[in-house]
Amino acid sequence: MIHAEIKTLGDLIAQDYKRPKVTEQIRANLRRKLRAGEPVFEGLIGYSDTVIPQLYNALRSGHHVLLIGERGQAKSKIARQLSSLLDEIPVLEGCPINDNPLRPLCHFCKTLIAEKGNEAKIRWITGRERFRQILSTTDISSSEIIGDIDPIKVAEGRYLIDPDTFSPGKALQANNGILYIDELPDLAPKTQVSLFNLMEEGIVVAKGYPIEFPVDLLLVATANPVDYTTAGKIIEPLLDRFGSGIYTHYPRTLEEEREIMVQEAFSNRDSQPIVPVFMQEIIVQITLEARNHPDIDQVKGTSVRMTIDNYENLISQAEERFDLKNVPPVPRISDLNAIRTSMYPKLELTYMASKSKDQIIDELCRQAILKICTRHFAKYNWETLCIGNFRVSTNMVGAEYVQQLDSEPELKKLVDRYIQDQGLKEIDEVVASVTEAILEGLYIAGRLKKREVDGVTGQVFGLD
Ligand SMILES: [Zn+2]
Repeated sequence: MIHAEIKTLGDLIAQDYKRPKVTEQIRANLRRKLRAGEPVFEGLIGYSDTVIPQLYNALRSGHHVLLIGERGQAKSKIARQLSSLLDEIPVLEGCPINDNPLRPLCHFCKTLIAEKGNEAKIRWITGRERFRQILSTTDISSSEIIGDIDPIKVAEGRYLIDPDTFSPGKALQANNGILYIDELPDLAPKTQVSLFNLMEEGIVVAKGYPIEFPVDLLLVATANPVDYTTAGKIIEPLLDRFGSGIYTHYPRTLEEEREIMVQEAFSNRDSQPIVPVFMQEIIVQITLEARNHPDIDQVKGTSVRMTIDNYENLISQAEERFDLKNVPPVPRISDLNAIRTSMYPKLELTYMASKSKDQIIDELCRQAILKICTRHFAKYNWETLCIGNFRVSTNMVGAEYVQQLDSEPELKKLVDRYIQDQGLKEIDEVVASVTEAILEGLYIAGRLKKREVDGVTGQVFGLD
């Protein structure tokens, strides 16, 4: 069937069109893609032998899916991509609830057909257009999900599913598509009940008026593991409707999270930053440390988004040297101060926490820097380095580091060797970045002292 050639209701009738159910569309398209070796999901790193195969089974079974996991585990990304498994379907142009044009339920479609007959215009809509999302809060009412009725207009004798009388909610807009409910346990039980009634009976009562609506949709919802295991947060009959519950998870290795970070971070920068791998690893390690820190709320979790946002801020700070001093942006340790602002909104401390967010951020950074720098530099016997005084600052350009290295032959030798071994670009800014990593690592390891000069932006390393 060539969609472009089917422009009117008459064309559709001539084709003897039958609309497959949502679950049938998804099942058929999934299997076709798998058999053809086409990718089903894009950019989902670290899920290839856990979440993805489980999801395939759920979809082959035609199940509603509950994704269980802490925040920032690509749950909404999964849900959104599912809409690419939906067919393009024909609707009468202007129908608010994606009615099947051959068996319309809404007053709009019925009126249109009564007026125009087979000449009524058809529009083909993609799966993306039938995806609706609800961010749950306790004050979301059923009218947001089901729809809202204007009782006065009904009293005037208007029809119930008439755009004039009734504005359909998200579930009806997602008809023949996907309804994604983020954090389902946060929906008030009353709202969950109306969602259940809609799915179970196809009948909903809005402001006292029963509306019959055989809804056809795939429900994808998320829940935090704690809410999910606590009885009563999702009403029992609704929970029962989910054929499959799939646990999502944080990346299991530093390398996977680093890959996600590089893939997802804003990268359209004309400054063309160079980020040494150890700086990328430090950013990831900071998040890994946060996920184990006793003062951070581990129930909600620490999102991969923090890793991504931190990475973006780190590069942005280095980019300031590009803008002000015209040197290539190569992030270094002293730029890490810039990640505070991306960490503040994401770190949730426990009630027991006795430290401030800033203190905890400092701790996380120190632990991460020590681990990553040890991994990179210990094999060069870095702890035996003899170093005089070395000044670093986010405002200094690489040439100022290179100049100082002239009087630090041991340090210079290590920096040069590391740059060669790693195949890093041999430019002053890279030299500055490697130098700082070594100095800061040694400082945290207790091998060097450090004192502040001119406020927060300058520091001097040395043995005393
Ligand atoms: Zn309609």
